[in-house]
Amino acid sequence: MISVGLPDWLSPELLALGLVAAILGAAVGSFLNVVVYRLPAGLSLVHPPSRCPHCFHRLAPYDNVPVLGWLWLRGRCRYCGAPIAARYPLVEALTGLLFGAIALRIGVTEPLQVFSLWGFSMILGGWIFISWLLALALIDWDTFTLPNQLTQSGLLLGLGFRTAFGIIEAGHGGGAAAGLLDALLAMALGLWLFQAIALLGRLIWGRTAMGAGDVKLAAMLGAWLGWKLLLLASFLACALGAVAGLGAIGLGWLRRDRVLPFGPFLAMGSIIAVLWGTDMITAYIQFWTR
Ligand SMILES: [Zn+2]
Repeated sequence: MISVGLPDWLSPELLALGLVAAILGAAVGSFLNVVVYRLPAGLSLVHPPSRCPHCFHRLAPYDNVPVLGWLWLRGRCRYCGAPIAARYPLVEALTGLLFGAIALRIGVTEPLQVFSLWGFSMILGGWIFISWLLALALIDWDTFTLPNQLTQSGLLLGLGFRTAFGIIEAGHGGGAAAGLLDALLAMALGLWLFQAIALLGRLIWGRTAMGAGDVKLAAMLGAWLGWKLLLLASFLACALGAVAGLGAIGLGWLRRDRVLPFGPFLAMGSIIAVLWGTDMITAYIQFWTR
């Protein structure tokens, strides 16, 4: 028996799963860069193939390898030498990290179930949700808009996933209604809660604190997360947004009359909720009922 020195919670199978997930995530991150760049500009996502935004030279497959391609070229276009923003490999690395984290999180909490239909559906659902969140967060950061194409397709995918997952969890078709109903209720809660916050913001500050895009995003989050994790994600988003906003004003990076887009913070809160939300809620309830 060879000791590979892995920590107790990480079996060789889980390590392999995490690595495959990270590589797949980096490739998805590479496509997310394309979506974030092209969707707000109204360009096709598939045509033309990846090219240098400066000289328009088409990229060779080996230039397009996530993270490594950028490092190999030292952040410059092979053909015209124009610098390529470090954000591209960073988004690829972050997506890879999050895909790996989702797979490992489910593998560690449900080691007996991870390599089953249930486990693979959980992981796939997490990957789809996170991909939509990253694209929305980056587009909102760049343009202060959350495109309807993404919030609407994300909402439909969330409702579809929860319906299908209801069947997988129950083991029979009757689970579909329970899964869908749960998702619809949380979607309605997201809409209602964020419209109420937007209205309150208008009454207090006399301006729109939240755009219609944020309300649609909240509906999508509800469909994916369910009501408990939706509330947690919204709370985390407000806390993170407040800290970041005050910090940026304090450091002089942001004028006092300017606002930060809220979408990136909702995405961050949702990702934290997906990865650790259930533990956080359990700990919170235990704290008050001890
Ligand atoms: Zn170039």
